[in-house]
Amino acid sequence: MPDSLFPAITAGSDAEALRFGDRSLTYAELGAVAGALAAELPAGRVAVWATPTLHTSVAVVAALLAGVPAVPLNPKIGERELTHILGDSTPALVLAEPGADLPDRLAGVPRRDIPLTGAGPVPDTEPDAETPALIVYTSGTTGPPKGVVLPRRAIAATLDALEDAWQWTGEDVLVHGLPLFHVHGLILGILGPLRRGGSVRHLGRFSTEGITRELTSGATMMFGVPTMYHRIAEAVATDHELTAALRSARLLVSGSAALPVHDHERIAAATGQRVVERYGMTETLMNTSVRADGERKPGAVGVPLAGVGLRLVDESGAELGEPDAVGEIQVRGPNLFTEYLNRPDATAAALDGGWFRTGDVATRDADGYVRIVGRKATDLIKSGGYKIGAGEIENALLEHPGVAEVAVTGEPDDDLGERIVAWVVPGGARPSAEELAEHVAKLLAPHKRPRVVRYLEALPRNDMGKVMKRALG
Ligand code: ATP
Ligand code: MG
Repeated sequence: MPDSLFPAITAGSDAEALRFGDRSLTYAELGAVAGALAAELPAGRVAVWATPTLHTSVAVVAALLAGVPAVPLNPKIGERELTHILGDSTPALVLAEPGADLPDRLAGVPRRDIPLTGAGPVPDTEPDAETPALIVYTSGTTGPPKGVVLPRRAIAATLDALEDAWQWTGEDVLVHGLPLFHVHGLILGILGPLRRGGSVRHLGRFSTEGITRELTSGATMMFGVPTMYHRIAEAVATDHELTAALRSARLLVSGSAALPVHDHERIAAATGQRVVERYGMTETLMNTSVRADGERKPGAVGVPLAGVGLRLVDESGAELGEPDAVGEIQVRGPNLFTEYLNRPDATAAALDGGWFRTGDVATRDADGYVRIVGRKATDLIKSGGYKIGAGEIENALLEHPGVAEVAVTGEPDDDLGERIVAWVVPGGARPSAEELAEHVAKLLAPHKRPRVVRYLEALPRNDMGKVMKRALG
């Protein structure tokens, strides 16, 4: 019987499913090896040492086919975080590529090498749509990572909504270099093409050379995070092969954090491609996207995906109706998680009668396009009686030639309540604080100018390239 999440794996064709460097698997090979591994998995949860490899992909597919919840682990994970995740998720087994250098902390958990060859049938009973399929830990941007329990139902719903939004087909060949322990790289980047019957070429590690090579030899789509598009935006000015390769792509997609308008525009000017932004979270999978056939507005994350209910609410929880009002995003739909693992309190606090409180603040224009202002916890600055979004100031500062990277935060101020602080990585000659304040005052408004500028060599970022604002200051 076919597995309805991955009909192409059950069908087992000779078409290429996955390629990592010089190693690849066809759908028939993937079905055989994952089927064999699925039959051996114990009851309980399995941890997957999620290196950016074919092995990780095989292990996750095997667990999904078997109905055994898989917990992807960041192979660069620190001791404290690993201890937390092991204690929280209590895996019965850890699956890792042969020869993986596992930390001592994992010594107490039985281990099995992930095979790349094997011959077993795809299990003939499909797991229930509501049983936990993956437990993915959040990025830990705003606090310790939380284990998000994702059922098959949510994975199928989000991938099908993206099929509709992106006109995503089995003909598409996706290139990406994202890590495989978050939903972006794993669910969208590996499971997405497998559900469609298309193929993935994973770069192992992102490089503009890898993107050029794959887009020149048949890849049609690219997924990336803003730090990758920033590198592309810097490179297109001089790298004509990259520019030509990007021009030939069907769709470039960005997510996981806000894509700076400046980078979007530089890429568009050089290649004619307007990067499509989508917005999602571990807990909700994908919520909105610019559609493949829709207008591409820089700085906007598009419209709600099919099946997703989205509303903006004010601080009292009342729904906001008028265009451009600022409120917290709440979402509901079949794309939502089941619960936070072992955290009934956090699960209850995150839900408002079936609506998930995202903690992200946004506006919606008259066309229904959502623009994320920032996170309620770190990106809304209350200064001089105004509520100011950090993202807008960051975008303005990035237009200044002396600013390579920037993060804007608020800090307590006796007069203003909070004052705006810009953490700047200079690009070339270091611009003065006065010059930057004037630049923002002129582009936006005087009350949005940074009162303090602090210079850094690099911003603190996590493995997805997200700025860890709680590490600033
Ligand atoms: P934690 O929940 O542990 O603090 P996190 O929220 O960064 O970490 P994820 O679930 O990986 O963990 O990320 C979801 C968040 O990423 C969203 O809530 C939103 O703030 C941000 N995000 C995702 N896509 C976009 C986008 N296109 N534009 C702006 N922000 C985005
Ligand atoms: Mg979060």
